[in-house]
Amino acid sequence: MRRYSAFAIAREALRYHTGWERAWAAPEPKSEYDVVIVGAGGHGLATAYYLGKNFGITNVAIIEKGWLGGGNTGRNTTIIRSNYLQDPSAAIYEKARSLYETMSQDLNYNVMFSPRGVMMLAQTEHEIRGYQRTAHANALQGVQTEFISPQRVKELCPIIELSGPRYPVLGALWQPRGGTARHDAVAWGYARACSDMGMHILQQCEVTAIHQADGQVTGVTTSKGEIKCKKLAILVAGNSGVLANMAGFRLPLESAALQALVSEPIKPCMDVVVMANTVHGYMSQSDKGELVIGGGADGFNNYTQRGSFHHVEETVRALIETFPIISRLKMLRQWGGVVDMTGDRSPIISKTPLGNCFINGGWGTGGFKSIPGSGWAMAELVAKGEPGELAAPFGLDRFKEGRFIDESVAAGVAH
Ligand SMILES: Cc1cc2nc3c(=O)[nH]c(=O)nc-3n(C[C@H](O)[C@H](O)[C@H](O)COP(=O)(O)OP(=O)(O)OC[C@H]3O[C@@H](n4cnc5c(N)ncnc54)[C@H](O)[C@@H]3O)c2cc1C
Repeated sequence: MRRYSAFAIAREALRYHTGWERAWAAPEPKSEYDVVIVGAGGHGLATAYYLGKNFGITNVAIIEKGWLGGGNTGRNTTIIRSNYLQDPSAAIYEKARSLYETMSQDLNYNVMFSPRGVMMLAQTEHEIRGYQRTAHANALQGVQTEFISPQRVKELCPIIELSGPRYPVLGALWQPRGGTARHDAVAWGYARACSDMGMHILQQCEVTAIHQADGQVTGVTTSKGEIKCKKLAILVAGNSGVLANMAGFRLPLESAALQALVSEPIKPCMDVVVMANTVHGYMSQSDKGELVIGGGADGFNNYTQRGSFHHVEETVRALIETFPIISRLKMLRQWGGVVDMTGDRSPIISKTPLGNCFINGGWGTGGFKSIPGSGWAMAELVAKGEPGELAAPFGLDRFKEGRFIDESVAAGVAH
């Protein structure tokens, strides 16, 4: 595949853009692959990419029931940070964040990574203590964060109201190298690189059954026919429980809709990401000028991909409190995605009771930021059959052993 470059843009401009190749191929499915990956979201595609790049495994199909990146990967609010409390979380989220730094170069695809800085506001005494503790933990983990004063918050984000009607801003946990990236581009960049390695991305192809013999996975039934495989990796976010059911095991997960909304575009007014966890909302400004806004997940399990009105109302109310300047803005559109949440709010990257079948899920409301780190760790698990250092703490056995990785604070409203 031809590299994208300034020279290529100039060349194509001269010939009226007639020479661009398709970014990825649309092949017919083969009858068998070494590895079948279910789900062409960021996690599935990143797993495929690192299987090829780090382990030379390229006889891979990535099977997607809709269009690639059309799940949560294309529906999230694109926040990237690694300021988690527990060591295993900091390790995998920081690995991911550092891979984002060079992703555009690695993939030869501009994912618009923007390390503009992320702040999580402390608006109660408890939050001050909690975030100070996280800042200390992050210092030990080698993750660069600091607890900053309200004055510094105001300097970094002048449109913020420090003396909010209910909760004044008392400080913030600040990660200067956190930020955002273009979510679709992350999926497209990985897809292009995977296709270039000869992998098959099969869109509009739904997995409807998983087959096994003697306790080992043997293949899948899809809407495009039977496909055999030596190894199967399931990375389907909100549908994890459905796929696990097909494979004959259960997961400690709940699925619910999480929603986001954007305002009409306005002139640049904030160049950091702000999360206000106590009042329950967060906001950043996209390159188009829209304010990108998110809040909480539905309080009941569902697969609706819609979200509910009361969350829109609560989230907007919370953000008007934090940023009174936005009170007269019009909201442009709203959407939802189905997220899968574990009890300890940490992901699952694991072998399963079915031999050679692996699962990666439970990223809940915050798995966009982890895509490259998760793909890296999952590729190692699939290639070697055993988890490496990054994935090992996130095995399913932790739920049996009561060895939880509690991130309920870091994963609250914050994404
Ligand atoms: C509104 C919202 C805001 C969010 N904000 C953030 C944020 O700011 N920062 C952050 O880090 N995270 C955020 N997240 C979470 C993040 O989007 C997800 O954790 C992440 O995208 C999950 O990626 P994935 O590849 O696992 O899943 P997905 O992108 O959902 O991909 C899974 C794919 O599997 C496919 N699939 C399912 N079943 C089948 C089947 N039977 N056969 C074939 N294919 C199948 C689906 O169609 C889907 O495309 C947000 C999520 C939402 C919904």
